[in-house]
Amino acid sequence: MSFTKRTQKLMPEGAYQVLARAGELEARGREIIHLEIGQPDFDTPENISLKGVQAIANGYTKYRSTAGIDELRAAIAADAGRRRGMAIEPAQVLVSPGAKPNLFFPTLALVEEGDEVIYPNPGFPTYEAMIAVAGGVPVPVPLLEDRDFSLDLAAFDRLVNERTKLIVLNSPSNPTGGVIPAEDLAHIAAAAQKYDCWVLSDEIYTRIVFDGRSAPSIAALPGMAGRTIIMDGFSKTYAMTGWRLGYGIMPEPLARKVQLLLTHALGSTAHFTQIAGVEALEGTQAHVEDMVTLYEARRDVIVDGLNAIPGVTCHRPQGAFYVFPNITSFGIGSAELANLLLEEGGVALLPGTAFGDYGEGYLRISYANSIANIEKALVRMTAVLRDI
Ligand code: PMP
Repeated sequence: MSFTKRTQKLMPEGAYQVLARAGELEARGREIIHLEIGQPDFDTPENISLKGVQAIANGYTKYRSTAGIDELRAAIAADAGRRRGMAIEPAQVLVSPGAKPNLFFPTLALVEEGDEVIYPNPGFPTYEAMIAVAGGVPVPVPLLEDRDFSLDLAAFDRLVNERTKLIVLNSPSNPTGGVIPAEDLAHIAAAAQKYDCWVLSDEIYTRIVFDGRSAPSIAALPGMAGRTIIMDGFSKTYAMTGWRLGYGIMPEPLARKVQLLLTHALGSTAHFTQIAGVEALEGTQAHVEDMVTLYEARRDVIVDGLNAIPGVTCHRPQGAFYVFPNITSFGIGSAELANLLLEEGGVALLPGTAFGDYGEGYLRISYANSIANIEKALVRMTAVLRDI
């Protein structure tokens, strides 16, 4: 069978492959600790779930306008604008089923065959997929461990040019947990203005930040709102991955074009899900604060535990719920090491290479799991790595 050029390079997400193998081992009676999947282990807060259930019972189960219901677009504009210190109009907001469509469709609207797209590597695998489908030229920029996994700005400066159409950023980052500092954002913003590029800023982890810090948005810098798409959503902040609720914020002319793509590809986002989303934004935020406090405690347990394993060094990230330990001292590839830890130790995690070639030498561990399980995983990892 032959398929189109635009789908030739599509790869599965590594997390799903490891999850499948872990499932096979579990079916044979093995007990596996799951640190591979990027999903909060908390239930959706009850106030949000109840609103969704009531909305279904009340018949909010029909088609709605593609861009989203007015109440939710207004709530998103107010909340996202206040948190970033910028003015956002509801007409700039496009609600989508999960945040992913607001990566894919703005890219399809902006990137022409042959346009260059800069993106972080290691980075979220959907970036490479959407660039490939749009026919863009992928231009990966490495992240540097000794710069808190911010972008290698020297490499960025060499790679950005008049052919660059789009720059994809992700802060806090999946897979590293790194937060791009304000001065790096200013540097990237200056290049975007000089070369007249768009910026797609994936801010889905923006509320999950530690040590009293925040993750600044490039959209709030002078001159950037007119060339930036903010992608954010409810999946991580409100533990709503399965509800499928996200959004994009972009200049209105682009929003009108992306809305057409959403109309034809997806129609609309479930009405009851959107009603739950209004409650998420306007109801108590105590759950978010509690979750972030717990993630921070878990981060410290896993970072300290990994650094205590001979041969492993682990940077202490400022956001998201991932760590990206350096395992180069073992002299074997990350895919092989991740496999060994699963097969021999019963710990499911991902090789850094699941996020691109520059992820070689690292593992990606999601600590969206209990402290008891994290501690058990550390004991098992120590035992496997001691024997290498
Ligand atoms: N961006 C990043 C960096 C992510 O990690 C994820 C979720 N794994 C998404 C976007 C997609 O979020 P959603 O599930 O809301 O589509």
